[in-house]
Amino acid sequence: MSSRPPLTDAHGHLQADRFDVDRDEVIARLRAAGMTRLLIPSWSVASSQGAVEIAREHDWMDAAIGIHPHHATDEASQRAALLARAAEPEIVAIGETGIDTKRNYASLTDQIANFEAHIEVAVQLGKPLILHCRSAGDGDDAQRQLIKTLKESPIGAPGGAAAFGGRAPLILHSASGSQGYIEDGLALGGLISISGLVFRPEERATAEWIRAVPADRLLTETDAPWLTMPGAPDPSRNEPANVAFTLAWIAERRGEAVDDLAAAISATYDRAFPRQRPRSD
Ligand SMILES: [Zn+2]
Repeated sequence: MSSRPPLTDAHGHLQADRFDVDRDEVIARLRAAGMTRLLIPSWSVASSQGAVEIAREHDWMDAAIGIHPHHATDEASQRAALLARAAEPEIVAIGETGIDTKRNYASLTDQIANFEAHIEVAVQLGKPLILHCRSAGDGDDAQRQLIKTLKESPIGAPGGAAAFGGRAPLILHSASGSQGYIEDGLALGGLISISGLVFRPEERATAEWIRAVPADRLLTETDAPWLTMPGAPDPSRNEPANVAFTLAWIAERRGEAVDDLAAAISATYDRAFPRQRPRSD
């Protein structure tokens, strides 16, 4: 008999309004499921405020602030004021930000400017970037642009990770795409964060490259309330407790014990996101 593995959700949007009706119950469920690490990333000014407030109230949770590529145009004028908050103690990472050419809610020019502003703050503070990246269909133009921008930034310069104290400068959130893209992310010192996307038939490539990711470079996440996986209790809304499904999927593909994988992921989380405040639990 082993005790329940410690669960890590490196990307759960607990501040989303989908959780307004029962947030306390969702938190009770994830605690009962054994969750000990939870990072709440943001997509806008308002959601950044929400993330920080929840992390302040639950001091074992962490927050990230940032502007999603979808909002690279409509929130551009508020970006500098938002990112000026990034040194606050609840905030352990910058994002989510990145490139999205699937929906193109903002021009690519605006998305790149938005992304570069986030990179600058991440490098200044040594807080890692949480990166969103999606291309339309089978394309990889967003992935190529994301890697290009990173390589041309201080992160891609020789010794770029030094600004992060040798820790990972970035996390490929809900990692998806070709083996080559994942290798590029790893070569930049990044972590690979796996979501319920892996259960979708079009994401078959993940089942191949997941075996090649070094054990100390993996994270698990839900992207709740989105990306519900088959078998989840509520198919219409994902929640952090469901990360157990993804953890089991990864363990099976890699031929590892769930408990060992969970412990390794929890340790990777702690290395990636050093805290400026104590945990009370
Ligand atoms: Zn997200």
